[in-house]
Amino acid sequence: MKIGVLALQGDFSEHVSMLKKIGVEAVEVRLPKHLDGLSGLIIPGGESTTIGKLAVAYDLMEPLREFGKTHAIWGTCAGAIFLSKDAKADQPLLGLMDITVQRNAFGRQVDSFETDLDIEELKKASDTDHPYHAVFIRAPIIESVHGQTKVLSALEDGRIVAAQEGHLLATSFHPELTDDTRFHQYFVSLAG
Ligand code: GLN
Repeated sequence: MKIGVLALQGDFSEHVSMLKKIGVEAVEVRLPKHLDGLSGLIIPGGESTTIGKLAVAYDLMEPLREFGKTHAIWGTCAGAIFLSKDAKADQPLLGLMDITVQRNAFGRQVDSFETDLDIEELKKASDTDHPYHAVFIRAPIIESVHGQTKVLSALEDGRIVAAQEGHLLATSFHPELTDDTRFHQYFVSLAG
């Protein structure tokens, strides 16, 4: 199976490395034709306004929306914002996933942090029960989930940081910046 990584801006190469590490073929996506033959797509972290503007410039908006109707897409951090239906800001969004996000919800760069999360789905999928170490960099929170979307993980204070709507996945944090491949494996299982 082949998984694409949207490679317009942000830390796409780290996602490519993670996919290779778990034995999955990774394809950098910059043009609509690069979506052909993919089973799923990861949208990396970076700057959601920049990713959105570049996606408009490369005529990727409609092809990505079409792709997301039938294929797995996982947005991490800026990617989660871009995937959402509502980011409470005037910027291009795919509008695929029924979540409302709040950008930069934890403050500025210096307020970036790491924490351990309990994620039941990962424990079930991987047969290990150690917590998932999550890296937050100028992260959004998922303020609310709607429709069929379920919460995968929240901080102790209840703020949502991971959610899933069928084959769509959103995380506030950066699973590509750790050695833990469980989230990538989970996504690949959704795509497969
Ligand atoms: N702050 C960025 C945004 O709003 C997201 C940061 C990230 O992806 N690490 O788009």
